[in-house]
Amino acid sequence: MDVQIYQYDAVIVGAGLAGLAAAEELTTAGKKVAVITKLHPLRSHSGAAQGGINAALGEGDTTELHEFDTIKGSDYLADQDCVEMMCTKAPETIRWIESLGALFSRNDKGDIAIRPFGGQSKPRACYAKDRTGLTLLQTIYEQAHRAGIEVFDEWYAADIIYKDGKVSGVAAFNIRNMQPAIFNAKAVMFATGGYGRAFKINSNAHANTGDALSIVARHGLPLEDMEFVQFHPSGLGGSGILISEAARGEGGRLFNSLGERFMEKYAPNALELASRDVVARAITKEVLEGRGIGPEKDAVWIDLTHLDPQIILTKLPELRELAITFLGQDMLKEPIMIAATAHYSMGGIPVDINCHVRKSPTKLVEGFYAAGECSCVSVHGANRLGANSVLEALLFGRHAGQNILEDLDWLELRKATAEDAQRMLDEINWIKTNNGTESVPAIRTELQQSMTDNAAVFRKEETLLLQREILNTLTERYKNIRISDKSNTFNTELQEAIELGHMIEFSKFIVEGAILRKESRGAHYREDYPQRDDENFMKHTYSKLNKDGTISTEYGEVVPGKFEPQARSY
Ligand SMILES: Cc1cc2nc3c(=O)[nH]c(=O)nc-3n(C[C@H](O)[C@H](O)[C@H](O)COP(=O)(O)OP(=O)(O)OC[C@H]3O[C@@H](n4cnc5c(N)ncnc54)[C@H](O)[C@@H]3O)c2cc1C
Repeated sequence: MDVQIYQYDAVIVGAGLAGLAAAEELTTAGKKVAVITKLHPLRSHSGAAQGGINAALGEGDTTELHEFDTIKGSDYLADQDCVEMMCTKAPETIRWIESLGALFSRNDKGDIAIRPFGGQSKPRACYAKDRTGLTLLQTIYEQAHRAGIEVFDEWYAADIIYKDGKVSGVAAFNIRNMQPAIFNAKAVMFATGGYGRAFKINSNAHANTGDALSIVARHGLPLEDMEFVQFHPSGLGGSGILISEAARGEGGRLFNSLGERFMEKYAPNALELASRDVVARAITKEVLEGRGIGPEKDAVWIDLTHLDPQIILTKLPELRELAITFLGQDMLKEPIMIAATAHYSMGGIPVDINCHVRKSPTKLVEGFYAAGECSCVSVHGANRLGANSVLEALLFGRHAGQNILEDLDWLELRKATAEDAQRMLDEINWIKTNNGTESVPAIRTELQQSMTDNAAVFRKEETLLLQREILNTLTERYKNIRISDKSNTFNTELQEAIELGHMIEFSKFIVEGAILRKESRGAHYREDYPQRDDENFMKHTYSKLNKDGTISTEYGEVVPGKFEPQARSY
């Protein structure tokens, strides 16, 4: 099939909150924009967000308190200029999305209802029942559509065109029939979401395979702070499907097999509403020390039976459904089984405060932007607070759109040719014709199991070095894969093979970052270095993939601000 060539002002990969917010901004301003997405936009993981979106709108709350909580939550690794921008613009972002049609839940006075979330000094999470993400995604999708965005859904972006410090397009194929195409543009934005699928127990959609990270890394561009992966305290026992923090926000209590409310030991003040890293570690510790519950003794209870049933029925209906469907446990009548689950990625493609992708800690790539969970603007530092991520995706997605719009005045279109699709075509051809003996699902299962065993909530040198070896072995085994479907129609086997290649690659960044960071900070906890070490590690990790498959690392400055680092307790 001949390579099709399309031309646009801007091409956005990803149709979650970040991608669509940028697309809406640009299209409304009259720019020609293509949105490429491997899923239908409304299937993007943003739609799964349950709990809420933060903004200092409640009584006695201020944007400064929101900033402080976010920076403390980040274990002082967040860049304070970016946090200030996010928290200051949060109330306006809520009003904007509301004016576009998002229906938030209301309190008795008719104001937007707000619920408490972990690590926050005031209730701050605005919500639409426990379907906040879907409400926001539907709203922004409708508006972007109304503005006239062009969506290429079920298209898979497999490469960028990157030459002489400038990105000028994306190579992609149509999943329906393998039609290859080049999307040539003045500006390219990645908004491809998270990558929790590298772990066995995770809360993420199947599509969250971190494609963009290794696409970027394969061109020698850096990834930032990849060692910081957030484990959410409450995934359903066994599967990891998310039970939102709203369950603790509304008053859920955690118990171990001895019936102890164990958070009294770990966070005597905030209890279940300490920040996520603290609660996830507490749960995992209870399990490791033999006080777990369930058939495998690998979970703890969350109990909501003391709440007014109306709270569960009106504010947490989906959570109740999930626990009934997957565990047969009804939270109205009994406690339900939960355990820590890989949930969110603080690290990603490094960007400056205006969403320009960085080539190094101090240099930018021309015409290339990223926002949302795949990016690292560093508002979350070493640990993200609940309900700050939907905010980040929407707010920085929109901000990226505004910045692209300004830059389009001077960015030039560098013409692409069919040759620019060659790397992608070679990769597809290799996977289709490679006649090895390894199966993709088998390697993927080993990757997920070993990442969960060796690089998850608790880490130490020994297990991390072991995981480095395992990843090297999996890299070799990947070279020996074979797929049986050679067709061009919805070849999901081929797509999964490409995605597995990405997952192995970015997992190396997680592990290398974790080996080098000999301290404990936020979500990164080293049993052999249990203290935070500001003197040596108050800095961002920037790692690059070398041609021989190894990773090299340098460090960049954290942007300081009005909040001085303190010990972090809840
Ligand atoms: C179960 C769950 C609940 C959550 N609840 C909350 C919450 O209550 N509050 C909160 O703040 N945060 C929450 N989060 C986190 C938050 O939802 C996400 O971080 C955020 O929505 C990410 O938005 P995004 O636009 O960056 O990416 P996504 O919404 O994940 O969208 C990614 C897009 O990229 C596309 N894509 C990816 N790779 C490719 C490729 N190779 N080619 C083409 N397209 C591609 C996908 O098709 C998709 O459209 C939750 C996360 C989960 C998993």
